[in-house]
Amino acid sequence: MSYTKNNITKRKFDVVIIGAGGSGMRASLQLSRAGLNVAVLSKVFPTRSHTVAAQGGIGASLGNMSEDNWHYHFYDTVKGSDWLGDQDAIEFMCRQAPEVVYDLEHMGMPFDRNPDGTIYQRPFGGHTANYGEKPVQRACAAADRTGHAMLHTLYQQNVKARTSFFVEWMALDLIRDAEGDVVGVTALEMETGELHILEARTVLLATGGAGRIFAASTNAFINTGDGLGMAARAGIPLQDMEFWQFHPTGVAGAGVLLTEGCRGEGAILMNSNGERFMERYAPTLKDLAPRDFVSRCMDQEIKEGRGCGPNKDYILLKLDHLGAETIHKRLPSVYEIGVNFANVDITKEPIPVVPTIHYQMGGIPTNIHGQVVTQQGSDDRAVVNGLYAVGECSCVSVHGANRLGTNSLLDLLVFGRAAGNHIAEYNNRSKAHKPLPADAADRSLERLNRLDNASTGEYSQDVANDIRAAMQLHAGVFRTQASMDEGVAKIAALRSRVGSIALKDQSKIFNTARIEALEVDNLIECAQATIVSAAARKECRGAHTVDDYERPTDDPVAPMGRDDANWMKHTLWYSEGSRLSYKSVNLKPLTVDSVPPKVRTF
Ligand SMILES: Cc1cc2nc3c(=O)[nH]c(=O)nc-3n(C[C@H](O)[C@H](O)[C@H](O)COP(=O)(O)OP(=O)(O)OC[C@H]3O[C@@H](n4cnc5c(N)ncnc54)[C@H](O)[C@@H]3O)c2cc1C
Repeated sequence: MSYTKNNITKRKFDVVIIGAGGSGMRASLQLSRAGLNVAVLSKVFPTRSHTVAAQGGIGASLGNMSEDNWHYHFYDTVKGSDWLGDQDAIEFMCRQAPEVVYDLEHMGMPFDRNPDGTIYQRPFGGHTANYGEKPVQRACAAADRTGHAMLHTLYQQNVKARTSFFVEWMALDLIRDAEGDVVGVTALEMETGELHILEARTVLLATGGAGRIFAASTNAFINTGDGLGMAARAGIPLQDMEFWQFHPTGVAGAGVLLTEGCRGEGAILMNSNGERFMERYAPTLKDLAPRDFVSRCMDQEIKEGRGCGPNKDYILLKLDHLGAETIHKRLPSVYEIGVNFANVDITKEPIPVVPTIHYQMGGIPTNIHGQVVTQQGSDDRAVVNGLYAVGECSCVSVHGANRLGTNSLLDLLVFGRAAGNHIAEYNNRSKAHKPLPADAADRSLERLNRLDNASTGEYSQDVANDIRAAMQLHAGVFRTQASMDEGVAKIAALRSRVGSIALKDQSKIFNTARIEALEVDNLIECAQATIVSAAARKECRGAHTVDDYERPTDDPVAPMGRDDANWMKHTLWYSEGSRLSYKSVNLKPLTVDSVPPKVRTF
């Protein structure tokens, strides 16, 4: 049976949330508790969302183990962002951090404890006391399974609050009416293959990152950037997509993450001479400098011939000096990953690691209430009625050009809660839903029927693999202008191949081939946004390092090639015509003094 307007079922909710990770479930909890009728859709069972894989911790200046306050956290985050983060949003997040962590504690989150009963906190990259003077213990942790503990806590609270979950439902497209307001979404029920329309006064995107646009990634297979694809197809820009974080310690060859918590607990990076090389690059923070910085240093060591192994292509992470007891207590999953993915017993020998794609700093532009914003005339931050976004798919922007570890779980909690509160306040239950436009499901029908009607064409995984290979090659740790330009052309060519994907099996029941093919429509939006935005940014900032624009660090105006005069601005990429636009960075915090740009040394 083909997909037509006549076989679509319709349901109505106050709010529909796409995504049951930490951000989606923090928001849904707020809404269910406020008595709203909330539907949460997820491609997988909620507790299998990628948040479950987060290991290291949640950043909050509790000061349980060393002196700390939110001003230090604010300063570190602005500096970590390489001055691309919006300082109002950063202040909002860092000030609320202790409160959202205590909230979680009161919900039953099983944090590790200090002997005095307070929450255990470990040091993490880029987090300091007294404005960069020394590392601070700020990462609130549950062993190396913090995300696991957090996601299960939030799921249980949602069950208690009677949130409705639609498990193994894939949202396909946003529905916007003639005025541009979002009035619902279309979604595919995987079990039956049926198309549905879910009407809502508010739609909240919480679909996580798009880490699967790269070949080597620490991300789950489901992280295909669906919310970003949905927004892009609906005419909403994607912000700062050139900024992708490489995590210094992915297991070489496997991509699986070894948390920065390893180095927080005292692990060190070594080159083939057995040298702790980070002492040379970052005399104060050493192995705990921010991720963009450490990743570049590792690549530099490899480039200069001091990589380890037969091909001199990886770095070693040494943990054995921490002692087996600490490792089994604080890093039990890392121990298991070592055995299972590298055949290494980390209590006895070092483990091979390489910088691996981990996190997208960019996403769907929002304000601090989670409302999606776009450009309208001279207004750079015009609200799109009915649409919110939180979590890794959004860009508020607290991470700017480089995120500090532990600030993402924090971002989920702070902005998930803030969006929930804002929606609860403005979602008027006594008001009727706006009528659906006549073409509500047309875009999704066209996508589904294109796949079903193509009798010949390519396998979706072949096209997806070529997208991933191109991104890996042309948008890596070190970029060059020529290579990025080549990448722009390659991805443009791949876009037309996406249009010729065909399904060999067109059955409806649990047809994962159809799901994967639909995901490729989202991968291509994220990949093109990334490469086009990257090729246009003619400077080095945070995670975006271009050989052509590197300049000596002793140039105070443009440290490492950062060009504040021309490029301290957010990129906006529009899918239609693959067009770019820019908007200013908000350098004004809410109440405190701005942190002025300066050279980033550690
Ligand atoms: C291995 C690893 C370790 C990490 N460790 C840390 C850490 O220690 N500290 C830290 O701060 N950050 C960490 N991060 C980053 C952080 O975990 C993520 O950024 C964060 O969990 C993302 O949460 P989210 O709610 O945005 O999305 P996710 O948790 O990724 O959830 C996305 C949800 O959206 C759903 N979804 C997606 N597309 C659709 C669709 N089309 N239809 C329906 N549902 C859809 C999925 O099913 C899922 O439920 C880590 C990341 C990784 C990969």
